[in-house]
Amino acid sequence: MRLRNIAGSRDVIAESPLVVHEPEKAKGKWKEIFKNDHPLRIEIGMGKGKFIYELAEKNPEVNYIGIEKYSSVLLRALQKMEEAPLPNLLFIRMDAEEIAEVFGREEVDRIYLNFSDPWPKDRHAKRRLPSKGFLARYDQFLKKEGVLEFKTDNKALFDFALAQLPEAGWEALQVTYDLHHDDRMKEGNIMTEYEEKFSSKGNPIYKYIIKR
Ligand code: SAM
Repeated sequence: MRLRNIAGSRDVIAESPLVVHEPEKAKGKWKEIFKNDHPLRIEIGMGKGKFIYELAEKNPEVNYIGIEKYSSVLLRALQKMEEAPLPNLLFIRMDAEEIAEVFGREEVDRIYLNFSDPWPKDRHAKRRLPSKGFLARYDQFLKKEGVLEFKTDNKALFDFALAQLPEAGWEALQVTYDLHHDDRMKEGNIMTEYEEKFSSKGNPIYKYIIKR
């Protein structure tokens, strides 16, 4: 079955075995879903999935879940998976606001946020994925020693994200204001779609790695 020939991304997603439907039923049971006890890492707001696909390809001993709010975007990731499926990568279509309903305590050992939507208006600050409200959600399921990695080319969003940390009870382990010229932090970097687009325009990429 060629996904690209099927109209209606919602229908395709509903039928795809690569998408976990009713993911709240998998809470606390992700090892059973993947049929192994490998570590679990998630990307929230994965877009078309280039980053998480390459990560999963490089690390077969780690399980990955890509989370995306919009069916039309998730469909693009599914099309890529159809060409070369990976047993350690699954997808969820959901709004990250509900994410604490999907993963149990200590179930995830790393969270990736890449080029999250900036929501520039103050009244929308709560929707920003690195905001303290979201950090409190992540706190409910990230392993004690787990970390969160965030990349963006948006300086205002990055400054906001850093400023949220003390209040939320998190601390920065590593910070760079120019990832692609930072010898330590650029090692093994996998570019996202947005990262390719914005770094090719000459924008510096900001990144932090944080823990509680
Ligand atoms: N991470 C990709 C990259 O770096 O190329 C895509 C970045 S794009 C700017 C942000 C993505 O996050 C979009 O695909 C958007 O639909 C998704 N997104 C935004 N808010 C979300 C939320 N609350 N829950 C899940 N996905 C979300």
